[in-house]
Amino acid sequence: RMNTELGQHILKNPGVAQAIVDKAGLKQSDVVLEVGPGTGNLTVKILEHARKVIAVEMDPRMAAELTKRVQGKPEQKRLEILLGDVIKTELPYFDVCISNTPYQISSPLVFKLLALSPAPRTCVLMFQREFAMRVVARPGDALYCRLSVNAQMWAKCTHIMKVGKNNFKPPPQVESSVIRIEPKTPRPPISYDEWDGLLRIVFVRKNKTIAAGFKSSAVMALVEKNYRTWCAANNVKLEGDDGEAHLVDIGDKDEMEVSGDEMGDVKGIKTKAGKRSRSKVGEKVKGLVETVLSETELREKRAGKCDEADFLRLLYAFNQQGIHFS
Ligand code: SAM
Repeated sequence: RMNTELGQHILKNPGVAQAIVDKAGLKQSDVVLEVGPGTGNLTVKILEHARKVIAVEMDPRMAAELTKRVQGKPEQKRLEILLGDVIKTELPYFDVCISNTPYQISSPLVFKLLALSPAPRTCVLMFQREFAMRVVARPGDALYCRLSVNAQMWAKCTHIMKVGKNNFKPPPQVESSVIRIEPKTPRPPISYDEWDGLLRIVFVRKNKTIAAGFKSSAVMALVEKNYRTWCAANNVKLEGDDGEAHLVDIGDKDEMEVSGDEMGDVKGIKTKAGKRSRSKVGEKVKGLVETVLSETELREKRAGKCDEADFLRLLYAFNQQGIHFS
């Protein structure tokens, strides 16, 4: 019996399983990480083309079935099964990741793979169609979101093939797609947290202008807090500052409106919502933001239309003014 809460949809079409393994471009010397091997339909094909497979499986019954499948065969020695949640597992080194991904962990898995150092050479991953399309979406596409910009900052992401639901047992409710994520080498020399911090702000409302995003009092309170932290760390004296944040509750109603398609929220924003800074430092920060918006000429552009170069320019300009997002 399958446990669909664990995303157990076994790939029953051997042609699709073979295509996934072929698309990974394996070398006989490769160590492959497989996420969620299940009964091993992909695993046995990977073992034919790689030196070693490390398979992380959460369900002990599946792990037992996979163990049985290779028992007594020469490939048994080349398969290592780690029992547990892949998101919580400290991953050993591997060259390539292959996964028919349990859909509940799509987002954390992508972020985990993108953060790995050393990065794998390539990842070939099956996801629900919509999630896959988000990863590869380009500026202006309806599905373009924070996930797209993040993934494409650290990796080249490409759609490989569509897979219909009837290739699985039991069939899931939605269609699937296989994508390739190839981490860039060398890794772009920017801070992951700064980058994601800026994206969290500008993608709160991806169809509003960048300037509108920075009009929100909650966002400005966060920016001011980060500016104060930066000034303190860099011994910059703040004029007219007595060290207090001067946050005045003025019953401000402009709460963050998180668009339905955007996952995750802006760190630290909730606590500050409804308060607007009336301090001198607050005014100064407002001025710095204005300078950035003018200098970058991104004031009227919508996040949903900005590309990686636009966001990099924006982040660089903010950092130049001492404004940080992590
Ligand atoms: N690879 C097999 C195939 O293609 O036929 C099974 C794929 S099935 C979509 C997903 C597998 O991931 C299931 O075996 C499930 O038990 C396992 N799984 C679910 N959540 C997991 C997690 N957090 N960490 C590791 N494995 C997980």
